[in-house]
Amino acid sequence: MIPNQFRIQLQNRFGNWFPVVPEADKNILESILTYCNIQRLRIISWLLILINLTLIFIQLAYIGKIDQPRILEIAPYIMTLRMVLLVSSVAFLFVTRLPFPDAIKRFHHFYESGYIILNLITYAILYSLIHSVGPGIASSYLMAVLVSATFLYLKWSKSILIYGFSWIVFSVMVWRFQPDWILAFSAIINGSVVTILALVMSQIIYVNRVKEFLNLQTIELQKEELAASNDLLEKLSYLDALTNIPNRRFLDEFLHREWRLAVREHGLQLSLIMVDIDQFKQLNDTFGHQNGDDILVNIATTLSRTVKRPGDLFARYGGEEFAAILPKTDLIGARRIAEQMLQAVERLDINHPFSSNGRLTISIGLACIKPNDKELPETLIEAADKALYQAKKAGGNRVCCG
Ligand code: GH3
Ligand code: MG
Ligand code: MG
Repeated sequence: MIPNQFRIQLQNRFGNWFPVVPEADKNILESILTYCNIQRLRIISWLLILINLTLIFIQLAYIGKIDQPRILEIAPYIMTLRMVLLVSSVAFLFVTRLPFPDAIKRFHHFYESGYIILNLITYAILYSLIHSVGPGIASSYLMAVLVSATFLYLKWSKSILIYGFSWIVFSVMVWRFQPDWILAFSAIINGSVVTILALVMSQIIYVNRVKEFLNLQTIELQKEELAASNDLLEKLSYLDALTNIPNRRFLDEFLHREWRLAVREHGLQLSLIMVDIDQFKQLNDTFGHQNGDDILVNIATTLSRTVKRPGDLFARYGGEEFAAILPKTDLIGARRIAEQMLQAVERLDINHPFSSNGRLTISIGLACIKPNDKELPETLIEAADKALYQAKKAGGNRVCCG
């Protein structure tokens, strides 16, 4: 383990090389990388099956024509190793057959690393054997190392384990089986250079993939934050800031929606209750604006409790006026709620020095309509407004119907 302090120093100096993945995202990243690696290894498997099948057939076809004893001696081993590549590729394709579960499990990591290491070691042995009979570098082993380094996402620990181990096998095999020490030496040097190159390349590819992941996570997070603040803004734009109940804008949209709905479902009644506080200006002037605000909040909360059905709406219409929209409600039902509103305000028992009974009261105008597409929703508001005017004219503290 790298000590913490040293890790921090490394982080500061080579931050880009060691991107920090938040603990919560580590498992997701691992799963994504393993998923990609398995998909890519499946492509490699198909290629290996094709190549090794072809080579096995070629070897079988030409085996009789070879008269060099050394080649004949190692031919069975080469055939066996090709069979190992063939069988392991078929087995890999089988265990990871599609659709493999989206949830990557522990054994998928094992398949991924196991299959790469098995391939590289088989190639290491295969080409060190071939190298021992014909001079020249074991280019296919080096190719296999490079291909896996550019194709797969492997973190440091995995790549060091995989490439390091196969490099040891390759070097030991070449040193053991190549009689010409100059050829052996040059093959080992080649192998070492390519292994280091593979380590660097694989790390660059891994780090880039991690950075891409982190960027996407950040974008995702920003998107969520933006959506949340948009939601909040939208909510706020429909709420009255003082009383925290729906505002006029919400009421208008709601009324239009309910109107259209009622028109579509012929015969449905739509009721509107308009509430106006009596002589509120005098209350404001006597006790102050702040006090008036508190009373408005109190009235809004109290009245909204009288409108209980989930489909109903109670909103601040403006100033000291409120409105309730009651879909599928006739005049009798709406009147009942309006009476409850009068009583609820009476029960609040708010002192009003200029009112006839010494208490704060409200006036209510009611209207009920069967919406049709020849009229506008505003007709309902006008009717309720007229009724409210009647209630005011009659002295307030009452309900009038339009
Ligand atoms: P009426 O009985 O005819 O309804 O008399 P009124 O005084 O209630 O009606 P008017 O329309 O003359 O005055 C309404 C008052 O409501 C005027 C204004 O000071 C007050 N008002 C409107 N909005 C607010 C508010 O948000 N806070 C406070 N404190 N007062 C408000
Ligand atoms: Mg008013
Ligand atoms: Mg008023």
